[in-house]
Amino acid sequence: MALKAIGCKVYIVSLVWFVFLSLSSGAAELEWDPNGYILYCPCMGRFGNQADHFLGSLAFAKALNRTLAVPPWIIYRHHAPPYTNVHIPYGEYFQLEPLKQYHRVVSLEDFMDHLAPTHWPPGQRTAYCFESAVQRSPDKKSCPMKEGNPFGPFWDHIGVDFDHSVLFGGLSFSSYHIPHWIKRFSSTEHPVLAMPGAPAQFPVLEEHVGLQRYVVWSERLVEDGKKHIETLLPRPFVGIHLRIGSDWQNACKLLQSGDAGPHFMASPQCVGYDRQTALPLTITMCLPDLTEILRAVKLWVKKTKAQSVYIATDSESHSTDIEKVFKGKVKVVSVRPDVAQLDLYILGQADHFIGNCVSSFSAFVKRERDVHGRPSSFFGMDYPGKIIGKDEL
Ligand code: GDP
Ligand code: MN
Repeated sequence: MALKAIGCKVYIVSLVWFVFLSLSSGAAELEWDPNGYILYCPCMGRFGNQADHFLGSLAFAKALNRTLAVPPWIIYRHHAPPYTNVHIPYGEYFQLEPLKQYHRVVSLEDFMDHLAPTHWPPGQRTAYCFESAVQRSPDKKSCPMKEGNPFGPFWDHIGVDFDHSVLFGGLSFSSYHIPHWIKRFSSTEHPVLAMPGAPAQFPVLEEHVGLQRYVVWSERLVEDGKKHIETLLPRPFVGIHLRIGSDWQNACKLLQSGDAGPHFMASPQCVGYDRQTALPLTITMCLPDLTEILRAVKLWVKKTKAQSVYIATDSESHSTDIEKVFKGKVKVVSVRPDVAQLDLYILGQADHFIGNCVSSFSAFVKRERDVHGRPSSFFGMDYPGKIIGKDEL
């Protein structure tokens, strides 16, 4: 009798424990979506590019009515330990939950742990790519899903090998082709569309800029960012992004010939998306020199009566030169955090932000600030043309 009671207790305790574990891992909520999934590798560019692509991919998944498997960010740590690519789950920097207000998502990690074993098992993993992409594969017949870096390390990290390829041509990721996608790839015959790159354009399309509102910082990042601001940055503060390192100097050289036009990388964010009406893109906007940096900082510090300046930079901070301008009356801070997202968070919180129009790293900050109605300008352009990201809710 007593033994039976203990046995029953143990059973109940373990049942409760099991339910708790499944709930806390989110596994209990994971049901297979009969409308299918989209998987992709954020294989182009660093964080800013990946973020642009993420917004477009989110919109693409919604248009196809498939769940988006949200990939980890690829961070290139080739100059510091571990001297290799690092894959950071989306949820480390941002919350997955707010994305669901827009569309169905699951983290790629959860997809692999809880859904792939039954619904997308090894042996049935098909890759989907443009016909033209097969040129990059050794057999010239299959999708080059794992050819080179970061492709190979990404799918290895996720634990995926591909078994078959489906090629397509005459399609793009624009809204014009959405009906073609739906017709061509039914969710019954093609439940999982796994692609070598993001099903999106760079830079992000104007109509998807507003999706930034669903990209909400993780609690951990907010906590860390707030701590930095409270201890280091008396308000009001001006945040600036200096994109001036050697890779950027080389990129901006392409503008020197003068026939590049106004659209170059992230520049539609300040010159305008419409090529016909776009404002000119100057070299100073791409690569501000010290004179321009000091001019703009001085102007906005004065306008906002700023007590401090926060400098985020890819290389030099020019903090000594900036301090000199204000003769010690304005506090000048550069943290140079190990995690670039901390810079992004702090810039997002500034009372005024001066960004680099051509940089997608700056574009991330600009979009977030627009969502919250915070003002921004760019080096070489104090009053950017207004772009309102339409949000198709
Ligand atoms: P883009 O090249 O400026 O369009 O932006 P990307 O994000 O694609 O690539 C630039 C990368 O350089 C970022 O992802 C960061 O890793 C690094 N970087 C550039 N500017 C800064 C900065 O102000 N702070 C930090 N921490 N990293 C930066
Ligand atoms: Mn880049």
